[in-house]
Amino acid sequence: MSDKLKIWDPSRSWEDSEKEWDLGKEKSAGKKTLKTLKKMPKMPGITKETKKNLSWKSFKYMLSHDEKGALRKSLAKHPFRYLYRYLCSLAKKKSFVRDGDFFLYGLETLSAFKQELEDENSLLVVGFSYCHKPHECPSGRFSTDCIHDPKNEVCRQCFIGKSVNALPEKRCIPLFITTVHYVSEKIFDTVHAYPDRNVLFLITACEMTLKMFGDWGNIAPIKGLGVRLDGRICNTMRAFELSEKGVKPGLTVVLDDTQKKILELIRLRRECEAETAN
Ligand code: SF4
Repeated sequence: MSDKLKIWDPSRSWEDSEKEWDLGKEKSAGKKTLKTLKKMPKMPGITKETKKNLSWKSFKYMLSHDEKGALRKSLAKHPFRYLYRYLCSLAKKKSFVRDGDFFLYGLETLSAFKQELEDENSLLVVGFSYCHKPHECPSGRFSTDCIHDPKNEVCRQCFIGKSVNALPEKRCIPLFITTVHYVSEKIFDTVHAYPDRNVLFLITACEMTLKMFGDWGNIAPIKGLGVRLDGRICNTMRAFELSEKGVKPGLTVVLDDTQKKILELIRLRRECEAETAN
């Protein structure tokens, strides 16, 4: 994160920091217009054909595209444990509980996730799918980088930029997700590196991906939230596979109300972090 301008400074209130960010956002929008969706497309989360045997499609995709073998290596660390958890997840009617745009894994309610955020032993992985990075993103869209520089006119208008600047520095790991293998590898690495920590996640993704990979979240097993993206989402296997290679000309978005809810969760985490430090 840029050390030159720290908008969410611990000495200031959340309200003051957010006001400053939003004022800067307005100024940046006056100077640089970003490409946005002219009209929100009305697309089903998953097409009828794609819905068929989705768990099997996901399983096949994950193993057949594990080019670096990182996933197989992670699974080989505890093969029976992971197989058992996978079967348990398949046996459930659904691998998640849905609350509006939030998909809960390993948790029943949003309040339960909030309680987990207050756990001093927790480690929060916050992941943003590349498809809602602006087209003008200075770090590139299909990239695991993000400069989130408040002085950059594109970053200042970007929801990812605002969120990452607002995140507390401790016990939080931001990720900029290109592929499902990238995020799976990072999550397994985190779980293996911190076996005594309560690893939580908050990740943005298309509805199809959230449904396809719920079983994999349950294997880890980690608790957390998947946040549904809207806009030009992937709702077929073909679109998903192209997107995994960086072919994603359309823009996805986190809806305004959902953005507010994510920021409330980040605020809660930040306030817990401040209390722990005192
Ligand atoms: S904050 Fe947004 S625009 Fe800036 S580098 Fe990150 S994703 Fe790109």
